[in-house]
Amino acid sequence: MQMRLTFIGADHEVTGSCHFLEVGETKVLIDCGMEQGNNVYENAELPVSYSEIDYVFLTHAHIDHAGMLPWIYARGFKGQVIATYATVDLCSIMLKDSAHIQEMEAEWKNRKARRAGRGEVEALYTMKDAEGVLSHFEGVAYGQEFKLNENLTLKFTDVGHLLGSASIEIWAAENGVEKKIVFSGDIGNKNKPLIRDPEYISEADYVVMESTYGNRRHKKGVNHVDGLARIIQETLDRSGNVVIPAFAVGRTQELLYLIRHIKEEKLVTGHDGFEVYVDSPLAVEATHVFKDNLMECYDEETKALVERGINPIDFPGLKLSVTSEESKNINFDMTPKVIISAAGMCDAGRVRHHLKHNLWRPECSIVFAAIRPRVHWDGFCRTARRW
Ligand SMILES: [Zn+2]
Repeated sequence: MQMRLTFIGADHEVTGSCHFLEVGETKVLIDCGMEQGNNVYENAELPVSYSEIDYVFLTHAHIDHAGMLPWIYARGFKGQVIATYATVDLCSIMLKDSAHIQEMEAEWKNRKARRAGRGEVEALYTMKDAEGVLSHFEGVAYGQEFKLNENLTLKFTDVGHLLGSASIEIWAAENGVEKKIVFSGDIGNKNKPLIRDPEYISEADYVVMESTYGNRRHKKGVNHVDGLARIIQETLDRSGNVVIPAFAVGRTQELLYLIRHIKEEKLVTGHDGFEVYVDSPLAVEATHVFKDNLMECYDEETKALVERGINPIDFPGLKLSVTSEESKNINFDMTPKVIISAAGMCDAGRVRHHLKHNLWRPECSIVFAAIRPRVHWDGFCRTARRW
């Protein structure tokens, strides 16, 4: 039998990343992602049953790379999921959050179906499935060669996309021939707050690379700190709120890092101790993962802060709200403030409630800080629409 690679997903669209690698008798998936947004192409069927998969190597915790793990667990997967320590920690909150969303969606559809006299649907997967697959995770350190058996060795290299994100180098041997295959995962931009710049891999026989922004250049030298400080200053001066829709994991913590810097450097004046609310249960949990994790993921600047005893994403005035009651109270209190809330695409979550309360008030600002598939909007920008 020959070494074989089959592309299951994300091979002609972004999201739903999943590749199937067979080396001798060993069967491996690289990523197991959920398709998100408009589904133009269906992922291919896996040519074997999920119970036959020995390992999943996970590049990072984003749902479009990890989100179907509970689903394959429900269909018989009982192998091992191997990922960096930070990815394991992030998955432990993100897969449960995703299961919660699946259960809520099914419940909502079933309420409608019952009213219309239609049959009920099942959730794509449940909390039990998420918890089940999480017990199969195994964390590894960056940069260490990890020998699974005589035919398979792997190594995770930091690619600066998300806390814990990695390219995976795989040395696969069969019939005395060894090949090195690299799966890029999502590669981050340079100079992102908090996490390290991407490291590069110098050699491979084959590279499987995903590309979302293949034909675009990132803008150079955008000064996020000054832009954000200016918007906060102007908005608080007008007694308005700054509402920032942001992805709960990654983007929210980058914003906290920038705001901590703005506060420390006193770049906003006349509003001492202004309050910053993080209003999304997932973002709050993810912020705790970032706080605990991990010196091995932080860049030099962030490490230096930690060594000075400074928490890089904490500051006076930071309020992490969790209950929906606390969330509602944010808009009853009229003190001008910054509100960071999920979801980044404004299509779900508590941010919709904050938009409802603030979008119509001319003194308020809505700030988009999204660089994601289909949102090609780099840096900070106040909404054009004010009335
Ligand atoms: Zn990603």
